Amino acid sequence: MRVYRARDGWKLLIPSSDIGSHCPGNKFVGASLRLIMTKDCCADSVPSSICNCPVSGAKGKKVKIITLKSLLTSSALETLNPDKTHYFCSATDCPVVYFDGQGQVFRRHQVAVPVFQKDLRLQVPICYCFSWTRDRIYQEIQQTGSSTAETSILNHIKAGRCRCEINNPQGSCCLANIRTFMREVLQAKSAN
Ligand SMILES: [Zn+2]
Repeated sequence: MRVYRARDGWKLLIPSSDIGSHCPGNKFVGASLRLIMTKDCCADSVPSSICNCPVSGAKGKKVKIITLKSLLTSSALETLNPDKTHYFCSATDCPVVYFDGQGQVFRRHQVAVPVFQKDLRLQVPICYCFSWTRDRIYQEIQQTGSSTAETSILNHIKAGRCRCEINNPQGSCCLANIRTFMREVLQAKSAN
């Protein structure tokens, strides 16, 4: 058993057998307590391991409960504990979409929409608010050499129209994903 103590009296107890064994993404191995306590996705006093997906080990991103309430299937919603903090796992090859860090997970089939990060089909939305699928952007770039997606979405955001937290499984703005996909398509096009 390793015991870490912080100045404010908070303690973190880790059984020796658990150190680094099943959480490849966490920072227990050789990490200082300061690192554990300052991971940005967690409250200050929560060990970072709960932020890591129990299946992939990827670091989860905290999502609001309204996102799960909006996007879980009805049978999954019946098992939701709204008082817990939930995290989004963005690992492509991991079936877990949300986890609460205390054992409960919600997998792809328990989310009512296809999840961009976990479903590589062209018809899957990147922007869930304004229906920009991979295919729509791809077709536009094939036909015109560029895509209006980023500008269009930015204008809608400025006008206060986006609803990412109830529409997008990641619970936040899609623009980074849009930019990445546009860059990938443009690079592939120029390479051909
Ligand atoms: Zn995962």
